[in-house]
Amino acid sequence: MERESLCLYAGYSPKNGEPQTLPIYQSTTFKYTSTEEVTRLFDLKEAGFFYSRLGNPTVDAVEQKIAALEGGVGALCTSSGQAANAFAILNVASAGDHVVSSSTIYGGTFNLFAVTLKKMGIEVTFVDPDASDEEIQKAFRPNTKALFGETIANPRIAVLDIERFAAIAHRNGVPLIVDNTFATPILCRPFEFGADIVVHSTTKYMDGHALQMGGVIVDSGNFDWAASGRFPDFTEPDESYHGIVYTQAFGKAAYIVKARVQLMRDLGACQSANGAFLINQGLETLPLRIREHSRNADAVAHWLEKHPKVEFVRYPTLEGDPYHAAAQKYLPEGCSGVISFSLKGGREAGARFIDSLKMASLLVHVADIRTCVLHPASSTHRQLSDEQLIAAGITPGMVRLSVGLENLNDIIADLKQALEQA
Ligand SMILES: *Cc1c(COP(=O)(O)O)cnc(C)c1O
Repeated sequence: MERESLCLYAGYSPKNGEPQTLPIYQSTTFKYTSTEEVTRLFDLKEAGFFYSRLGNPTVDAVEQKIAALEGGVGALCTSSGQAANAFAILNVASAGDHVVSSSTIYGGTFNLFAVTLKKMGIEVTFVDPDASDEEIQKAFRPNTKALFGETIANPRIAVLDIERFAAIAHRNGVPLIVDNTFATPILCRPFEFGADIVVHSTTKYMDGHALQMGGVIVDSGNFDWAASGRFPDFTEPDESYHGIVYTQAFGKAAYIVKARVQLMRDLGACQSANGAFLINQGLETLPLRIREHSRNADAVAHWLEKHPKVEFVRYPTLEGDPYHAAAQKYLPEGCSGVISFSLKGGREAGARFIDSLKMASLLVHVADIRTCVLHPASSTHRQLSDEQLIAAGITPGMVRLSVGLENLNDIIADLKQALEQA
């Protein structure tokens, strides 16, 4: 099936007389008749549901749907995008290890990498994603376990050269982990360009309606953990599972099974059945929404670019945008609804503009059906120093605009009157 159909059918196929729509299995636990069956489940000799932290039928259906959309071998839903990114790294790196990451990433992920992982003994080196191969190569060490980047970097709207990043990662024997939140698998499937692991904040376009927090990790099944030689946790016995060896027992799904049975078991940031139901509701219409978001944003970006009060606009479909060529390769169907732009007059003008909007909402969110705006320097990226802000591609007067599904004329009318006030 193509992606539009997968959005409707993947992960759940009702049999005769069963509900047409995905049921909410609102149960923490699942009943068995013999201890032997439960033992087999606990030994990972058999797949089945026994406790909703580790697996739930509603959540499982959504995991299968997202895995199918990305073209992966398996997925793991988490309670938020932050949890997905934390698990994605912790599944390959532990104290004493090192990770290389693009510097232009979501502020929350930047904090996770620069502060919290550091406290846990995992060091992250940030690199300019547009630096030369040689320069990025310099960041790698013998204990490096992953390379990380975002398809469309939030909030700079920089498009990652996934193929180049994958080649660099693989040359060093580590997986490329890509946060594909803004693009969604409808606009870009990073596995097709060599990424090994994809993560999402499902809180954004997948849900799309500002209803439910969530994250997901998807495993391409393509990374050869044994051949790399850098991942003993995958190739040597796990004593917490009676000496199971993940690469031997689960083959191509080693990474995603390990994330579930070690990290979800021990850290517990699981998605709920009700939450998964809401995400599924969003996924069903994702192709329609993301294309319409992209069309509206393209028109808004072109309109903003011509406005005398606007200093610059970042949106990859603009001719002069530094990521125009990258977008044509990686995002041929559109670049999502997220635009960033800066007003002449900096911080003050930016604030006045936002305060003057009548329809668009000021909120800490993005990728929603309703147009919303945010001032990164005073909110999501507030913890960053000025140098870190610049490294993340943010100016003090930058506004992040998430273009919704309202009529284009209404969106532009609102921006127009607010710009007049700015
Ligand atoms: C929002 C976001 C996250 C974090 O996700 P939450 O669901 O808010 O925890 C991670 N990466 C990107 C690109 C995001 O936009």
